[in-house]
Amino acid sequence: MIDSHAHLHDAAFDADRDTVVHRARQAGVETMVSVGCDLEDSRRAIATAQRYRIYASVGIHPHEAKAAPNDIATAFGPLLEEQGVVAIGETGLDFYYDHSPRGAQERALRAQIAVARQRKLPLIFHVRDAHERMREVLREELTDGMRGVIHCFTGNTIDALAYVEGFGVYLGIGGVLTFKNAGDLRDAVKAVGIEHVLLETDCPYLAPIPMRGKRNEPAYMKYTAEVLAQTLGIPPSAVLDQTTRNAVELFQLRGAERPDS
Ligand SMILES: [Zn+2]
Ligand SMILES: [Zn+2]
Repeated sequence: MIDSHAHLHDAAFDADRDTVVHRARQAGVETMVSVGCDLEDSRRAIATAQRYRIYASVGIHPHEAKAAPNDIATAFGPLLEEQGVVAIGETGLDFYYDHSPRGAQERALRAQIAVARQRKLPLIFHVRDAHERMREVLREELTDGMRGVIHCFTGNTIDALAYVEGFGVYLGIGGVLTFKNAGDLRDAVKAVGIEHVLLETDCPYLAPIPMRGKRNEPAYMKYTAEVLAQTLGIPPSAVLDQTTRNAVELFQLRGAERPDS
């Protein structure tokens, strides 16, 4: 399995990060992408990725968009040269919390899509209560051959199909899938099928049942994988094979250089 969206560099893991990585590998999570939320956080993600020979993503979260540098492409430049960096994000629109003004969120989003286009990197999108506006931006900004994932997707079937059929992006599915009240999400996953789904934890947040409420970690992804298999009525091995293949394809991990130290 590949945890396509973790915050392994988060301070929540400072006390026992080695053990968490060991438990992940014991649970069959071979690798993971540690995702940055601003420039400083992205630097931490890269350092963590290099230390554990996993992968990192460089991005400015919509919550942090208000403090984004004026020239995001220039600010990202040196970080994108680092070993282990495989994606841009998380970036997107969050109209639920509105921690940054919507105009600032959208400027940062468009700038990050431009960097991804120029560098031929995939995008990790964070979208909450903003699916319609997000798709307007994607229609204007995504060009042929660009790849991405709507991480922690929690929309309905209509949204799911609009993303998959309209833009060919993956849906990142995490612990929310296991929650009792997530029937709409399970229907959405059934509608798009395993070919369009990535597994993720978004740890330390959003632990799946039976760990709900605890600090999440990559090893817990197995619970989400089990529910995904039940939801789709396919064997767990098929879920693991296909979601791994999807993550390898999105992040171009085959042949991507693994950090050596
Ligand atoms: Zn997010
Ligand atoms: Zn995240």
